[in-house]
This record gives sequence, structure tokens and C-alpha cells, in this order.
Amino acid sequence: MLDKFKEECGVFGILNNEDAARLVYLGLYALQHRGQESAGIASLEPGGNTIRVEKEMGYVADVFTQERLARVTGDIAIGHVRYSTAGGSMICNAQPIVAMTHKGPVALAHNGNLTNGPELRKQLESEGAIFSSMSDTEAIVHLIARSKEPTLELAIVDTLARCQGAYSVAILTPRRIFVARDPFGFRPLVLGRLGESLVVSSETCAFDLIGAETIREVRAGEVLVLENNEIRTVHQFATPREGRCIFEHVYFARPDSVVFGSNVAEVRQRFGAALAQQDRGLDADVVVPVPDSGVFAALGYSLASGVPFQYGLVRNHYVGRTFIEPQQSIRDFGVKIKLNPVRELVVGKRVVLIDDSIVRGTTSRKIVRMLKQAGAKEVHMRISSPPTKWPCYYGIDTPERRDLIASSHSIEEIRDYIEADSLAYLDQDRMLAAIQRDGEDPKLLYCTACFSGRSPLAEAAELEVSASST
Ligand code: AMP
Repeated sequence: MLDKFKEECGVFGILNNEDAARLVYLGLYALQHRGQESAGIASLEPGGNTIRVEKEMGYVADVFTQERLARVTGDIAIGHVRYSTAGGSMICNAQPIVAMTHKGPVALAHNGNLTNGPELRKQLESEGAIFSSMSDTEAIVHLIARSKEPTLELAIVDTLARCQGAYSVAILTPRRIFVARDPFGFRPLVLGRLGESLVVSSETCAFDLIGAETIREVRAGEVLVLENNEIRTVHQFATPREGRCIFEHVYFARPDSVVFGSNVAEVRQRFGAALAQQDRGLDADVVVPVPDSGVFAALGYSLASGVPFQYGLVRNHYVGRTFIEPQQSIRDFGVKIKLNPVRELVVGKRVVLIDDSIVRGTTSRKIVRMLKQAGAKEVHMRISSPPTKWPCYYGIDTPERRDLIASSHSIEEIRDYIEADSLAYLDQDRMLAAIQRDGEDPKLLYCTACFSGRSPLAEAAELEVSASST
């Protein structure tokens, strides 16, 4: 069970601000898309050596009532939003995780998935450690507490050196916040400034909300500490290549964020334009996005191809996760409650329908049917990423391999299943070319393991072998 544990999360922190908890609340509000299952804020109590945490299952706005927010006092705080699958839906797994260690209290907020999490846990348990959650993140706290290093700073570096896989973390300690990204930099993490205060966030959209300026990204493999008004690099782990998650750009991050140095909306538009280039010769009347995931790629496709963009599907934004279908027997009800076609915009039209990805294929199948029922003459499904064939081991919630339709079906079989007139995915080389900046080699910067099955860890090991044999 533990090795199936996957987490999608958002992390935020602020130092030196009288309104710390309130600003973390706003930051988490902006990061809500990164996790909707639980929300938490931990702060260092004023003048003390005590960390207070408030966390609960639910949306940020529901978890943090005025009274609850008022209980998290002090001028340093971190926060976390979390969504997880595979039996992880429990309050014990909510973050930040707080612990007392002989080096002082710590609170930890983690985004990513440790690939050696189950082994670390097994080893710690065999040495007598008692875990109170199912989350890998707790292993990090245990390792910090058990490290033989003399200072907290060194204990954190010592601990992270033992962690493999993906981590973007914020660790609150008395008067300091430690911040780190794994050597591959799978998950984003940025530093910012708000007046005299330093801030850290998974995405820049949270800075926009509170009026903070971006300073820079935390570098892949960098461990740093925020103290008073200063940012100090504590350690830099080496790596032969990076492994920035391309799926952050494809689907996960908010389009108004700058992630890995590029604006997400612009990148999605470039993916759409690249799809249009691939599609030269296709006769179509309208480009329609699957809202919201296909919107920017569809815009890019439309601008590049000259085929007009139409909002041919409208989304109901008020569908909560708790919605229960009143009658399971009503087919397609699930998608209909979320999306409805605008008949007048699609009737008699040859539609290019754009989404970012196909996971199981059920959404695309229902939407294609919906458009046909609304009178679309043809529906050409276009996906602004390559086929998703592999589950993510680094923190994106994708199902098991057997449930990913592209892992066992050809593109023609998928087309047949979703009942589209044609189906095409964005080619991986074109996708990487679309994200390339300043002469960098995106093949050595991005993780595309969900498409290619090639993990950057394996590629890094190969690079190391070839470097040592030359
Ligand atoms: P499916 O019906 O399983 O093929 O799901 C496809 C839809 O899921 C697409 O509209 C995607 O935008 C969306 N999607 C892709 N990845 C994820 C994810 N990790 N979590 C939630 N939705 C996703």
C-alpha cells in the first residue's frame, strides 16, 4: 500500500511578518489547485520555542475559519495543501507535520514523492521509530530527529542526502525557515519578498495574490535558510541532470504562474501551436477547448492555425468534490454536471477538440459524445502532450499503469474508444522544443517519465557512467 502512496501538494511559507498566518492562508488559497483534501498552517508562537499547528481535512476556506486562523499567531509560518490517493485520505496525513526533536521543534511541509520513502520507513520502524501517519514525509522528520549531526542545519542536509525522489520542502524551526528542492528539482519552489518579509511558495500565483515579488527559484539540489531578512545557501547537492516535471506545465500548475522560469499559459499556448503545426492539412471549422485544462493549448492552436477559437463547452465551476450522483444509472451524468456544450457554436461544425491529456479515456469519450449529440459534424481530438503511458513516481496523481489507456492501447484503438473522427497527441520532441529557452537542452532539464518511461534518475546514472568511462 505504501508504495502506491501519491501526493499532490502545495507549500507556502513566510518569515518576518506580523500577519504571517493570514498571508499563509492567502498563499494556500492561491495554491488550492495543488491539493484539495487537507490544509494546514504551522507557526512559531511569539517569543517562544513552540510551534502551533492547525490542520484539517477540506478546502482552505473551509478549514480556516476566523477563529482558527486567529489561533495561529507569530511572525513566521508555513502552510500546506494536500491531495492524496490510495488510502491516504486521513487527517493523520495532513501537513505541516510537527515534531519535537532534541535539536528543537520543527514543522515540515513537503511537496513530492520520495521514491525510497517505503524503505526509509521500514528501516526507521525496524529501529523502533513510531509513525503516526502513512505519509513518506514523516520519515524526513524522523531522520532529522535522529541525525548525529551537531546542528539542525547539518541534520537537515544529512537527512535530505538520504532522501531519493521528489521533494520541495519548507521546514519551520525557531526563527528560521529551511527550504530545499531535490537534486532533480522535480517540483517547483520559488522565493519572494514582501516588504521586509521573505516568502516561499510552490507557485508564483500565490505571490501575486499577496503582492510579493519573485526573487528567484530555489535551485535544484539547493538547501537554503531564510533568517531575518537574509537568504543563505546551506548546501548544494550535485546532479548530472535536472528533472523538472513537464506535467506541471501540461496540466498541474496554474496558468498565471511562472514555473521553472516560464509562464505556464504561454508554454501551453506554445504546445497548442506545436500541435497545429503537426496538424497541417486538417480541415476544421472551430477549435474548442476542454475547459479549463485545454484552454491555453486551444488558444495557441487557433492562433497558429487560423481556425477560430470557440468556447463550445461551458463548465460549471461550482461542482464540489463531495457531489454524489443521485442515480448511478443515468449515464454520463458525472461529466454533464461539469460540462455542457453550446449547441449553437458546434452544430454542423468540424470541431478540433483540445485537452491537455488523456488518462483513462473516460472524460474524452463522454465529451466527444456530448459534442456529437449537440450536432458537431466531426470531432478531431487533439492532446497537448504525448500519450500518458506511465504512472508518476514523483508526486503527480496518475493511476496505476493498467488504468492508463495509452499504456496498453494504440492511438487508433484509443480513437476508436473515444469515438473521435481522428486523434493526435503532441510529439515529445516538439513538446520539448516548445519549452526550450536560451539554448538550453530541455532533454537534460525536464522529466518526461510519464510519457517515455525513462526516469531522470536512470538517465542521470547513465550520464555518470558515461562521464566516468571517458
Ligand atoms: P480521463 O477521463 O481519465 O482520461 O481523464 C482525463 C482528464 O483528466 C483530462 O481532462 C485531464 O485534464 C485531467 N487530468 C490529467 N491529469 C490529472 C491529474 N493528475 N489529476 C486530475 N485530473 C487530471
